[in-house]
Amino acid sequence: MEGRLIAGNWKMNPRTLKEAIELARGVDEALKDLPIEKVIFPPFVFLTEVLRIVGNINIGAQNVFYEDSGAFTGEISPAMLKDIGINWVIIGHSERRNILKEDDETILKKVKRALEWGFRVILCVGEKLQDRELNRHKDVVKRQLDGLPDHENLIIAYEPVWAIGTGKNATPEQIEEMHTLIKDLTGKKVLYGGSVNPENSRELSMVKNLDGFLVGGASLKVESFQQIARSLLEFHP
Ligand code: PEP
Repeated sequence: MEGRLIAGNWKMNPRTLKEAIELARGVDEALKDLPIEKVIFPPFVFLTEVLRIVGNINIGAQNVFYEDSGAFTGEISPAMLKDIGINWVIIGHSERRNILKEDDETILKKVKRALEWGFRVILCVGEKLQDRELNRHKDVVKRQLDGLPDHENLIIAYEPVWAIGTGKNATPEQIEEMHTLIKDLTGKKVLYGGSVNPENSRELSMVKNLDGFLVGGASLKVESFQQIARSLLEFHP
């Protein structure tokens, strides 16, 4: 799986199906000629409709459970996602780790199960501000990567928690250091995520060992997302 990747995490946005369809249509059209892997992650309830109207980009889910069916109220299984035609998932996003209290063990179970089901999995890792201030950011990320299977469908997203949705992105030096560590440990593609926008994406796209971006806020605007995707193609290390 060569080449760079642009991924858009819509989080719990937008509020209506109509807006979701409009946004997906716009992204599908805007990215269609870019020779790069593309995937967007709308909320679960919009997946079926969004899948129906796109033709040029991949659609993924923002989470998945580790059992196939059963008494797990509110969860969505890999079997269900596969059945509607979804082949990509994000697992371990920091909002799920920190707000929904998912731990490393649960996340590892989900990753293993999703890989068994044949999903392309984007596993998110990243330290909190305090970890970086105490110079233990590498240890935190190493722990989050511990026990991962070596699978060709696994992609890692390095997303320092202090940079997500804060407008504060990591410096190219910080990103390169962490991406190199993650690549050395896993041998996988490594995406960067954390307040990527059209203003900083050119500089960030030149970082060594950076295989793409996982974009949150800026993926909700077609033009911004397109510009970020373009910078991955135009500005290589
Ligand atoms: C994300 O949701 O993974 C993310 C990186 O968000 P943002 O780009 O808004 O910081």
